[in-house]
Formats: sequence, structure tokens, C-alpha cells
Amino acid sequence: MADNTCKLAEGTRFSEELFSYLSKFFGFSKTSNIIGALVHPPSFYSIRVNTLKASVEEVYRSLCEKNIETVFHPILDDVLLIKVKGPFEIEVQGKIVVADKKAAESVYVGADLYAPGVISAKGVARSDFVTIVDEKGFPVANGIAMQSEVDILNQRKGLAVKVLRSRYQSASIRCLDEYASGKIYDQNIPAILTSIILEPTPHDVIVDMCAAPGGKTTHLAQLTSNKAKIYAFDNSKSKISKLIENINRLGVRNVSVIFSDSRYLHVDYPSLKADKVLLDPPCSALGVRPKLFEYKSVRDIIACAQYQMQFFKSAVEILKKGGILVYSTCTITPDENEIIVKYALENFPLELDKQILYLGTQGLNIIKGSNLLQRFYPDEHDTPGYFIAKFVKV
Ligand code: SAH
Repeated sequence: MADNTCKLAEGTRFSEELFSYLSKFFGFSKTSNIIGALVHPPSFYSIRVNTLKASVEEVYRSLCEKNIETVFHPILDDVLLIKVKGPFEIEVQGKIVVADKKAAESVYVGADLYAPGVISAKGVARSDFVTIVDEKGFPVANGIAMQSEVDILNQRKGLAVKVLRSRYQSASIRCLDEYASGKIYDQNIPAILTSIILEPTPHDVIVDMCAAPGGKTTHLAQLTSNKAKIYAFDNSKSKISKLIENINRLGVRNVSVIFSDSRYLHVDYPSLKADKVLLDPPCSALGVRPKLFEYKSVRDIIACAQYQMQFFKSAVEILKKGGILVYSTCTITPDENEIIVKYALENFPLELDKQILYLGTQGLNIIKGSNLLQRFYPDEHDTPGYFIAKFVKV
């Protein structure tokens, strides 16, 4: 990743290089709008109700009883939307605590600040009123220090600042009983749509090539009433333990979790044959919101795209003829989306297919069949930026 000294584009919190790369495809004004929207969270957080454990009505009622402002999704049956409030003004008062990017982005939407995310806390004593800022000095919240500077920086664990007022506020989904008991999973709308577009059925053998932490795997289990045979692969031990935790919490019973490099499944598991394959590989994550700033370079994006291409041989070899392959990313760059689709169509026996549901807009018109692709733009759809392609093996 580019270093922190890179120049930011005028009036934005994105690197100049990234801004001009995106402008080439989207134009100046659309790029400004996308970046402008990425800085804010969507106006609702979405949760998928895990119908293996609860009904949507039951969860809706229990959230309303807790005074959490909740509405049903107008189209997706198993989805509830929780209002995100803000932006609120954050006054710079008291001592300053600087949080790293990831921590600042969580605090910005209401989370407390934990010691590992603190970069500096100059002169802070326990019980001080503080302002939390990001690395660029942008204030994200006010709060009360729970540890002194020395403890925060030496011990590097535990709650550092209890947040009293953040720029945005919403229910902390992961602190709810409904979360602990596996009745809900926090997942954005395009990610929920991705598993639906794979059209899983109870009789399918399904391979999820990049499965952890398991948002889509557990949704596939739900959509097939715990009946399909699902193989969930991932090559990160720590993320696999999250995946197993989620599988257990959500009462999922039809998933085999396998630690493996999915680029070589056809070599390592020659008898594996799937009706459906989901490929949701690592990406530049430029669509993820909120994003306080972004320093990634075009080189980082190209590196992601080159990695993404490496999964296709294995995906196609393990897929039965006539089977479905869904490719998805949480990014907006054409190199990781349409250009990857073009590469896949030119090199493998794949054809693009119509998706069962379109809530976004079509792909960029830079490849044949772009009308069959689905894109989400943060400035248009009130979602993260996202991309979904559906292929059939011919
Ligand atoms: N589908 C997941 C999110 C996937 S994020 C969900 O919906 O929750 C991408 C995942 O790909 C990460 O967990 C990462 O560990 C995994 N990954 C990266 N390279 C991989 C490889 N070569 N083989 C298998 N998994 C890989």
C-alpha cells in the first residue's frame, strides 16, 4: 500500500492517483459523488435475519421493543434495516486521542475506542474528556478516557475511550442478544444479494472459495434450509476460526470448513465437483463505507486484480457443466470487476447469465454483456460500492 505521505486530491480524502484513475472511467463529477458518499455510512444498516433460528417478524418485534428504529426491506424478505443517525457536530474539546484508520472508522459510527487502535494520546489521564481524531486530524467522536496515555501505549489492550458522542450513531448490532443467539447477521444489501444470485437449492453441492468470515456461506446454508452440501474454503487460519464461530452461532449444519488455497482446488481435490461456485476474493475494498480516507495506489488495485484472476482456473475446473459461478467484490474499480469478467470470458468456457434480481445498475459499458452485470454505487444506491457477475459454464 502507498505510504501516508501521498498527496490527496483537492477537496477529497482520496489519493490524487486514485482519484484520477477513477475519473478516467466515471468522469470527474461521478467520481466526486462516489467519494463524497463513501465518507459517510449508508443511512441504514442492514441485517439478515437468520431464518434457521428466527422469523423476520419475531426479530422486528424484539428490536422495536428495544426502541431500535427498524423497518422491513421493501424487496428482500429476510432483511431488516436499522436507521443510522447523524451526522452530528463533534466539537474539539479536551485532550486529543489519535486513532488509526480502522479504529477511527468504527468510532465514527458509534463504537468505543480500544487501545490497539490508538496511535497517540498525548498527556491523557484516566477519566479525561477527550476528542478522538483520525490520522488526518478529523474529529470522529468525544468520549471519556478509561486509561492513561502510559497504560494505553504500554499495555495496548482493553477499552481506551468510552465514546459519548460520535459523528454517526446506530444500534451496536454485535452487542444485541439477537446477535449472540445467532438470530441475525450484519451484512450489507449487495452482499446478501450475492448468495441469492447463486440460486442455491437443497440438492446442490456448493463451493464457497473465499468463505471467511462466512456471511455468504451461512446465508447459503439458510437459503437451502441447512440441506445443500456446502464446502467453505479459506486460506487464513484466524479468519477460519471466525467462520467456525459464525457457523456455530447461526446454527448452520451443512458446511464443511476446509483450510486451503482455493487457487488449486482442482489439483488438491480432483474429485470435487460443484453445481454452484461462489468466488468472493480479496479486493481493494474501495466500496466499503464509511471510509475516512484512502491511500491505495493504482498498483495496489492491479495487484488485487492479478490475484483475483488466479482463482478462475480452479473455479471453472471444479464446476459442473451447466453450473453457476458467481463472482463478487466490494469494490468499484473496473480492473477488479468488468476487466476480470472479460478475462474470464476470454480464457474459460464461461458465459454471462442474467441475474435473478437487480437492485443496482448494470456494469460499465466497456465489455460485451455489461447489461447482465450488477453494480452498486454508494452515491446512487445508499449501499457500499459493490459488483456481482453471474456466469454459466458451457
Ligand atoms: N465471502 C466472505 C468474505 C471473503 S473476504 C463473506 O461473505 O463473509 C476474502 C477471503 O478470501 C478472506 O477471508 C481471505 O482469507 C480469503 N483468501 C484470500 N486468498 C485466498 C486463497 N488463495 N485461498 C482461499 N482463501 C483466500
